[in-house]
Amino acid sequence: MRQIDSPQAYLVAKTMLVPEGLNAYLKDIGNPDWGTDHSVSDAENLIEAAGRMCYRSWQPYDPARPEASNPNVTNVRRGNDRYIANVLKSGHGSVLEHANATFICRNVSRVFTHELVRHRAGMAYSQESLRYVRLDDLPVWIPDSACENPAAEKKFREVVDFLENSQKELAEIFGIADIDDFSSKKMLTSMFRRLAPIGIGTTIMVTGNLRAWRHIIAMRTSVHAEEEIRLVCGQIAEICKREFPNVFQDIYKDEESGAWAFEYSKV
Ligand SMILES: Cc1cc2nc3c(=O)[nH]c(=O)nc-3n(C[C@H](O)[C@H](O)[C@H](O)COP(=O)(O)OP(=O)(O)OC[C@H]3O[C@@H](n4cnc5c(N)ncnc54)[C@H](O)[C@@H]3O)c2cc1C
Repeated sequence: MRQIDSPQAYLVAKTMLVPEGLNAYLKDIGNPDWGTDHSVSDAENLIEAAGRMCYRSWQPYDPARPEASNPNVTNVRRGNDRYIANVLKSGHGSVLEHANATFICRNVSRVFTHELVRHRAGMAYSQESLRYVRLDDLPVWIPDSACENPAAEKKFREVVDFLENSQKELAEIFGIADIDDFSSKKMLTSMFRRLAPIGIGTTIMVTGNLRAWRHIIAMRTSVHAEEEIRLVCGQIAEICKREFPNVFQDIYKDEESGAWAFEYSKV
């Protein structure tokens, strides 16, 4: 058994504006001067633009600028933080779906990935293939709940070592080292993995829109969620709060339980 470090989430991509395109659009609708304020990220700027486009609320009504304003709007809310606060409060969260954040989750188990991929709405996944990647050693993270109990930790190691030896024995039974044909190797590798533990360390890339991340963070850091997904989604919560402080302005952490929750749970 190869003991690996605890699971880790890395933010690897996030939504970026194309300012030339947005500025060209604003010029064409007759409001080239519009610019948000207090936005910390392109993602939040884009969300505000989506909302203002819906209601033509780029500015208070001006008959000279009919495509950038409308007679129903005499005052507009200024400030990206205040604008998004109102989106959250009113539950019109579909505009949050325009902004994405992509994470690579490393040293996570198949327990974690099985749970994460249950989240369908607004999500995309790419996961390490265990049909292609042959297992000669078994990388495993030992959860804190097992480490705290020496007898449990010993049993954990014994079982993983046994399964690791089984991988090696199967490789010998089939003489996989001497097989050149890739599709045969793939078929055998896939068969061997049935005897790999669900706790085996792997990697998954996951992209989600910010509305979906709010939902996942709340569900998966709750005290009812599993130890590993709580840990990783807790890291994702910290990153989202730092990178998108206006979209995550209503998030708070219960320090005792470690759960993250939102003032507006349904947006
Ligand atoms: C503590 C905990 C325990 C769990 N235990 C189990 C278990 O024992 N067995 C089990 O099978 N699963 C279990 N799950 C998984 C759970 O049932 C969900 O499948 C998973 O959390 C995905 O969440 P979601 O359904 O909100 O889907 P998401 O894809 O995250 O969807 C987000 C929201 O979009 C809406 N939505 C998405 N898809 C549809 C749709 N097709 N139709 C209508 N509305 C939709 C819903 O409002 C949904 O809440 C558990 C989850 C948690 C957090």
